[in-house]
Amino acid sequence: MDTHYDLDSVIRKVPDFPKPGVLFYDITGILAVPDAFRYCIDRLEEMCKDRSIDAIAGIEARGFIFAAPLAERLGVPLALVRKLGKLPGKAYEKSFELEYGCDTVCVHEVDVVAGTNVLLVDDLIATGGTLKAAASLFEEHGANVVGFLGVIGLPFLDYAQVLEGYPVDVLLEYN
Ligand code: 5GP
Repeated sequence: MDTHYDLDSVIRKVPDFPKPGVLFYDITGILAVPDAFRYCIDRLEEMCKDRSIDAIAGIEARGFIFAAPLAERLGVPLALVRKLGKLPGKAYEKSFELEYGCDTVCVHEVDVVAGTNVLLVDDLIATGGTLKAAASLFEEHGANVVGFLGVIGLPFLDYAQVLEGYPVDVLLEYN
């Protein structure tokens, strides 16, 4: 494990993005610093230690960035959870409510294997709605969701309540 890296120092806080009143946590600053990015993957890998994980699922789009190296390190398959219309193969779909309107997440049917333990990874967990919908893509077809990992968590948006019953781990929280 690497020594501690101050991730907060490389996460840019962008006010009023993508709309007025929203403070956006920009993880591209992590990617620009190899030591910071490596530290993230080291920590995520450590969080997976002694757990039974058969596959990683990464959430489009920034979740892919962290899910892919983690899956490679763990030596397990990576499933991509994508927005509607992006996957070329036969896919399961799940719609969920947003603050305004709704969104749909999809996963290739062949990537959902009944009886396997799947860990879901995203860059940031806010309300938990995206991860909850992504989890049902797997659970409704017989796979077990063993938890959620995020780089950033925004606990004041109550993701713990939405994802109740699952282990949820993040590298840093903002309030
Ligand atoms: P949730 O469904 O938990 O409310 O929202 C999480 C999703 O929105 C994640 O896929 C994440 O990429 C995106 N997201 C929402 N707010 C932010 C933010 O401030 N920074 C980043 N990097 N992603 C965000």
